[in-house]
Amino acid sequence: MLIVMKTDATESEIDHVVSIVNELGLRAHTMPGATRTAIGITGNQGAVDVTRFENLPGVAEAIRVSKPYKLITLDLRPDKTVVRIGDATIGGDELAIIAGPCAIESRAQAFAIAESVRRSGVRFFRGGAFKPRTSPYAFQGLGEEGLKILAEVREAYGLKIVTEALDEAGVDLVERYGDMIQIGARNMQNFSLLRRAGRSRLPVLLKRGLAATLDEWLLAAEYIMAEGNYNVVLCERGVRTFAQHTRNTLDLAAIPAVRRISHLPVVVDPSHGTGKNHMVIPLARAGVAVGADGLIIEVHDQPERALSDGAQALTLEQYDQLVQEVRAIHEVITPATVG
Ligand code: PEP
Ligand code: MN
Repeated sequence: MLIVMKTDATESEIDHVVSIVNELGLRAHTMPGATRTAIGITGNQGAVDVTRFENLPGVAEAIRVSKPYKLITLDLRPDKTVVRIGDATIGGDELAIIAGPCAIESRAQAFAIAESVRRSGVRFFRGGAFKPRTSPYAFQGLGEEGLKILAEVREAYGLKIVTEALDEAGVDLVERYGDMIQIGARNMQNFSLLRRAGRSRLPVLLKRGLAATLDEWLLAAEYIMAEGNYNVVLCERGVRTFAQHTRNTLDLAAIPAVRRISHLPVVVDPSHGTGKNHMVIPLARAGVAVGADGLIIEVHDQPERALSDGAQALTLEQYDQLVQEVRAIHEVITPATVG
């Protein structure tokens, strides 16, 4: 159920509704908005009796929710979510770019790339310390050592660190060294990991699963939010199809499709979405043109020596070109045209 408060509802009227929800053994998710506050209710198995709420002071409407989503939906929060990390945002007016190598390989490599990322004015640095590799014999990441390098990058350049946690113990570590938890495509339906990320104070970048439908992806976000973490950013990174000319098929129609349903920001990953260096810039342009709130881009100072995903890594020069071009495209996209 969803309770919409009147525009002039007071704090104490909101608190009163929340306390009744709690007394029923359910959880209240209070979402203040530009014009009104809404309260989502989770934890119920069957329907909640709307008559318990509709006559309470300050309540405009109690609505039974028939869709599978309760918290990601525009019904609960008609204004777009803006995820804030310090003074950087995802989902706000600025195009959010997250750039860096696939994996942190050494301090020298991370710093060489971070230097360029900082110079481009981009606010977020990516790099995996724990890598989910197809083969157990492939480079698995530097582990905590990699996270320490990321923390040094943050210190030296003021970049916000986005890095993947493969499991619940990984979330503990990312909380210690990073600014945003990445949940990878392979873990999109790792429900205990989603719940753990939902109890974190850090925002979460939730990648779309390798063959996940829109519903499955949004319900994965719902798992995180149901635990009380509302700072979720969706990431379209391509899905598996019959196509052989790309690593994955980047589903750009997912961006306007998500917009219709959800207030959550959505970013595009043209690196994993294509797997090929020469396709990354064109698809990054397209991602911004279709209305994404940002991009996540793999870049390497020496792509030919990369320990993972070298084929899709941009050179530092290509990266500079990309940033320039996508910013120009973003300039001409007005919020009204991407709604
Ligand atoms: C990555 O970002 O390096 C990664 C492993 O991505 P995905 O989970 O989308 O494959
Ligand atoms: Mn990668």
